[in-house]
Amino acid sequence: MSAPYPWLEAPWQRLLGSRAHPVQALLLAGPRGTGKGRLARLWAQTLLCEAPQADGMACGQCPACHWFETDAHPDFYLLTLQEKTGKEGEIRMATAIEVDQAREVVDFVQLSTYRAGFRVVLVDPADSLNLAAANALLKVLEEPPLNTVFVLVSDQPRRLLPTLRSRCTRIDIGLPPVDQAAQWLAGQGVADTMNLLALASGTPLEAQRRAEGTGLDERRAVLQSLADPARLDPVTAAERWKTLSPQIWHDVAYKWLGDLLAVRLQGSVLFNRDFTDVLTHLGGRADLAKLLALARTQANEGRTLAHPLNRLLQLEAWLMQYRHVFD
Ligand SMILES: [Zn+2]
Repeated sequence: MSAPYPWLEAPWQRLLGSRAHPVQALLLAGPRGTGKGRLARLWAQTLLCEAPQADGMACGQCPACHWFETDAHPDFYLLTLQEKTGKEGEIRMATAIEVDQAREVVDFVQLSTYRAGFRVVLVDPADSLNLAAANALLKVLEEPPLNTVFVLVSDQPRRLLPTLRSRCTRIDIGLPPVDQAAQWLAGQGVADTMNLLALASGTPLEAQRRAEGTGLDERRAVLQSLADPARLDPVTAAERWKTLSPQIWHDVAYKWLGDLLAVRLQGSVLFNRDFTDVLTHLGGRADLAKLLALARTQANEGRTLAHPLNRLLQLEAWLMQYRHVFD
């Protein structure tokens, strides 16, 4: 295994070289869309792996690797933004990492490790720690317990508490050279790489997301399933669509529901004219109250797009509710 992306090769080799004696507080800083989060997770897995390869890389086979890949490693802790339920029952992302969450980390690192190796705490996005949470974390970072490694990830390191930042060994992840980013994008099957990179201010992962935004084939596949609610299996469909970019999903679902409402209320299709027959048929069968409720849920989801946590469950719930519109 090499670095998750070609432009991360240098920082990745630097990390690998330190595997036997890793720094206990690491800050990965750099623009959004450069793969810092993925680098941080790979580093965590590499530290936790119990049968590392000769070059120090995680094996991907041992129990520790399996636990890690299923988010179940007992010596790994992810400190991140959590979902919250709002006043009207809507789910939205918290805007800060709260002190209670940070206290749980403090407790976690006081315990003895479950396995014999390292324990890793990943804080992402670290610039979302509120002041109290940052102070709580600072205390453990000042004297980190043995074999405990903190990895902080941040797009906006200047927003971090200075005392916290100064505790960390910082690795800056810069934008890759344009040629390298363009070559990587082309390898992902993306056309028009230079324009997309320009639109994404040079960040390759953001450019890739934009390329997916034009995913017409994906739109068609989703709409064909939605067109046949009786045969739509929420579990299978959610599994298949969980990798869709949230923007595409939201855009497709939002317009589909809009069309069903338009058919129901004014007898015409606004967006998906290529599905007019299906929409006319389905719109006539839809339970208006349930359809309106689902459209409201969808509008709320639009506000939490940047944080596709629990994507699978969210999709399943949506699809379940969608089927009931036609009961
Ligand atoms: Zn392993």
